[in-house]
Amino acid sequence: MKIDRLTTYLVPPRWLFLRIDTDDGPTGWGEPVVEGRAATVATAVEEMADYLIGQDPLRIEEHWNVLAKGGFYRGGPILSSALAGIDQALWDIAGKSIGVPVHQMLGGHVRDRVRVYSWIGGDDPREVAVEAAIKVEQGFTAVKMNGSGPLRVIDTPAQAAAVAERVAAVREVLGPDRDVAVDFHGRMSLPMARRVLPLLEEFAPMFVEEPVVPEVSELVGQLVAATPIPIALGERLYNRWDFRRVLPTGVAVIQPDLSHAGGISEVRKIATMAEAYDVALAPHCPLGPIALASSLQVALASPNLLIQEQSLGIHYNAGSDLLDYLVDASVFDYTDGFVARLTGPGLGIEVDAAAVEKAAAVGHRWRNQVWRRDDGSFAEW
Ligand SMILES: [Mg+2]
Repeated sequence: MKIDRLTTYLVPPRWLFLRIDTDDGPTGWGEPVVEGRAATVATAVEEMADYLIGQDPLRIEEHWNVLAKGGFYRGGPILSSALAGIDQALWDIAGKSIGVPVHQMLGGHVRDRVRVYSWIGGDDPREVAVEAAIKVEQGFTAVKMNGSGPLRVIDTPAQAAAVAERVAAVREVLGPDRDVAVDFHGRMSLPMARRVLPLLEEFAPMFVEEPVVPEVSELVGQLVAATPIPIALGERLYNRWDFRRVLPTGVAVIQPDLSHAGGISEVRKIATMAEAYDVALAPHCPLGPIALASSLQVALASPNLLIQEQSLGIHYNAGSDLLDYLVDASVFDYTDGFVARLTGPGLGIEVDAAAVEKAAAVGHRWRNQVWRRDDGSFAEW
């Protein structure tokens, strides 16, 4: 069996899918994308195809090594995301070629189902409380919310109190038997985070995510020392060497993204490395169905999994969503806040190739917003 062809599809709302065809074996699907830079990643995939065409698709580790290191320059979101999508597609081919799900090739499942959380949006406390109530009604046992809008380096007591008020409103709806996680998208400075996090302690978040930008991840130990709230980060780290720098800080949860951090091969290794530091795994996944299936394959096989992110109904998905590209969308049915083990071969989903081709004819040019503070200066989004 040899790799015959790589084809990328730019599909709404903001994704890039990859199809790898083999000469006489199965077809594999991957999702190589960085949100807002999909076309750049597609070009990186196209360049990597020069090496892959004609190769045996089952030598995944060998191809990972060559593609990650063989171009001399390495790491970062573009190259690591291109490699991630290729890696997912190769695992899909490997599983399909012997008729087993990927997690079986990773040593088999260590859990029967995977707990997932759902996003709630909006900055108004009443809004997030209403949305949290809807998620509880749908059976979810955990939600995640944005902690704040744009913040000054050191912001006012009122801004800090507003963050606490939003989290309080959600905690009141959830009660003590469900969880809320609070994502800051790196919007706080270290000193602002030291001011805000103590105000959230009484609401016992499952974790606070990216309180500060990834550039200062190695300093997160200052926050760990300042609050009992578990700190999570890692959606903007791209390989095991990036994670090695943050694991000693005392971070509680790492969030590698299956479509950014080198794919199934690499996230599996990152998860194992984290386990040695007593750090839990919660794969980042605001992306599409192939990224989610890849995440679930690792989640099913990883003893230190905390919870899985998934994007159904997320605020980014206006117009098209996670289930639009699947032949059988029931694989992602959520029951009591869990998704059942994927039992199909490969990634465990069947991508609707016709739907993908149709959507790729539309394409997208998704970009995130650029936020400004009230003095006109750039603010973290
Ligand atoms: Mg996040």
